[in-house]
Amino acid sequence: MFRWLLIWSFFTLSLAASLLGERALPALSSSALTDLAKMRDSSKNLDASDPHSHLQKILIPRPPDTENSTLVRNYIVSTLRNLKWHIEEDSFIESTPYGPKNFTNVIATKDPEAPRRVVLSAHFDSKYFPFFPQNQFVGATDSAASCAMMLDIAETLDPLLDARAKRIEEGDLDPEEDEDAAETTLQLIFFDGEEAFRVWSDIDSIYGARHLAETWAAAYLPPHPKRRLLSPSTPTTQLSTIEHLVLLDLLGAAHPLVRSYFPDTAWLFDALVDAETRLRTAGILDAAVLGRSFFRPRSATDNSLGYMGDDHLPFLRRGVSVLHVIAEPFPSVWHTLGDDATVLDLPTLRAWNLIFRVFFAEYLGLRPESSKRDEPSPSKRHAPPVKKSDSELTRDSAFIPELQNTDCES
Ligand SMILES: [Zn+2]
Repeated sequence: MFRWLLIWSFFTLSLAASLLGERALPALSSSALTDLAKMRDSSKNLDASDPHSHLQKILIPRPPDTENSTLVRNYIVSTLRNLKWHIEEDSFIESTPYGPKNFTNVIATKDPEAPRRVVLSAHFDSKYFPFFPQNQFVGATDSAASCAMMLDIAETLDPLLDARAKRIEEGDLDPEEDEDAAETTLQLIFFDGEEAFRVWSDIDSIYGARHLAETWAAAYLPPHPKRRLLSPSTPTTQLSTIEHLVLLDLLGAAHPLVRSYFPDTAWLFDALVDAETRLRTAGILDAAVLGRSFFRPRSATDNSLGYMGDDHLPFLRRGVSVLHVIAEPFPSVWHTLGDDATVLDLPTLRAWNLIFRVFFAEYLGLRPESSKRDEPSPSKRHAPPVKKSDSELTRDSAFIPELQNTDCES
C-alpha cells in the first residue's frame, strides 16, 4: 500500500458494472447472526500463535518470486482446492527495478459457471527489502491478516453457498429471495506484487492487479442468457462480470478507521456499517473490547478527498465498482518490522471476520440457519431489508477517476 492522495476529478461513463448496482440486501435476523458467528470459530484462523491457523502459515516474508512466496501461494491454493473451488493461477513475468520477476495471482471461484461474481481480494505478497534485518518484514496487516480472513470466509460460507445452489437447483427459492444474488458467485483474488520494489510508481507497484485487470478486460465471453449487458453492442468480458470488487488492506490492528471512497459503493459501505452495528447490538461483538465503530460516518465530502493507490486502481479505471476497505490512517507500524504478529489484535480480527461473514452472507442471499437442523419457519428467516443509502450516484453511470499524483506521500 502506498499513501498517495489522488485528486478525484472524474467524468461519467456508462458501464456494465453500474447496471448491476444498488439493491436491497435481505438483513439476517439476529438469530441468524448468532448462527453465522457460531458456525465456525471466528478467531482460530486469525490467531498467529496457533500453529495450525491460516495466519500462521502466511505470516512469513513473502516477496514475489521467492520460495516463501511459492509456499504461501501453495498453502492458499491447497486450502481452496480442499473446498473444491475452481482455482486459476495467473502467472507472468514482468520487469522490475531488480530485473524480470515471476508473479502469480491466485483466483479462486466457488462456481466458475455463474453469470456474475462478487470479488473479495487482498494482496498476498509482502514488501521486498534488500537487506537484513528489514528483509524479515512479514506484513501482518499488509496484508497477511486479510488473506487469512479470506480463507476463513471461504470455508465458512462454502456450505451455505452449496445450500443455496441446492435451493436454486430444486427451484426452491423463496419469493423474496433475490434473483441477483442467486446468479452471483463468490470469487477470491489473492494479488501478487502489490508492493513497489523500490519507490511506488505506475510501473513499480500493483504488478499482479495491473496484469489481471488487463487480461480480463481482453477476455471476451460468449453470450450468457442470464448475463445482463450494457447494450447488445457491448461485448462481455471477464472484467464486466465482476459486480463489485471488495479490496481489503492494512486490517488487523486495533481501532481501525475505514471510510467510504466511492459514491457507487456507498451503499455497500453502509451495509458493512450496518452489519457491524447489528453484531454489536446482538452482543456478538463487544464494544467495551473493540472501542468505537471501525467506520467513519459518511459525509458529502467523501468524494472529493481522493483515495489510495492500491490493487483496485486498474479495475476502477476500467469501470469496475470498488469497495476499498483499508485502515486510514495506516497502522503506525506500516512498512516497518513492527508490522508483525504483535500489532495484530485478535478481537479486532474476529470482528472483521464476522462483519464480512454477515456482509457476504447477505450480499449472496445465504441462510446461516440452514446449517442447523431445527430450521426456523420461513417467515422468521428474514428481517426487513437493510436500509439503503441515499446514494448520490446516478444509477446508470459510473465514475472513472483521472489520477493525479499530488505528492502527498507520508
Ligand atoms: Zn504495503
